[in-house]
Amino acid sequence: MTPAQVREYLKYYRDLGFETIYRVVPTPMLEKEILLPDPLPEPLPGLAPEGDTLARIRADIGDCKRCRLCEARHSIVFGSGNESSPLVFVGEGPGADEDEQGLPFVGRAGQLLTQMIENTAAKEGIPIKRADVYICNVVKCRPPENRTPQPDEMEICGQFLFRQLKTIKPKAICVLGATAMKALLNTKEGITKSRGQWHKWRDIPVMVTYHPSYLLRQYNQQAKREAWEDLKTLLHFVYD
Ligand code: URA
Repeated sequence: MTPAQVREYLKYYRDLGFETIYRVVPTPMLEKEILLPDPLPEPLPGLAPEGDTLARIRADIGDCKRCRLCEARHSIVFGSGNESSPLVFVGEGPGADEDEQGLPFVGRAGQLLTQMIENTAAKEGIPIKRADVYICNVVKCRPPENRTPQPDEMEICGQFLFRQLKTIKPKAICVLGATAMKALLNTKEGITKSRGQWHKWRDIPVMVTYHPSYLLRQYNQQAKREAWEDLKTLLHFVYD
């Protein structure tokens, strides 16, 4: 492998969230073997291949069977909204309604997200609707019983999320909840500590806030108030 290929491999795995790579050290057996040049490995697909588009990413996902989430899904929920939006929301994964309709955030949590975006924008005098932003998830298939996606599922599907984000290149990303935060920021911090603050994914500013499903479960109004504040900060940053 050339140094450039090694760099490309390491960058690829770092972007997928790997922090440690183990290298198998070959035991030389024959002098002849040592002299043989390494066969060139298949080139890895770039994280966002030159000229990547959302249509190409969707085509690459295909009728995905890369992880166990394919077994019970009805639809692959890729994403929806304005494909050149300056703002992308990232959730955890489709629920039952999303799986049925093939669209992200269309169930109860989705309705709350729509209200949060549109009411905050209206109150702040920012002329946007939900259709003006782009919305997608870390995993594209519904986890059974709406369980949290497992690390390998997030890792496999994460490559497509990263390509979506690289292709759209929004001015800011809003991660909704702990799973999306983990996928993009690879942090051990809790959501309560990280919310309301700016982080970065590559060079793109990331605002962390609560997942709308969590807000639906909350009886006290504090978390809702905080999420509204986070959205206000986010919308002014993106649209002012
Ligand atoms: N929750 C999510 O994280 N994503 C959806 O699309 C719906 C609910």
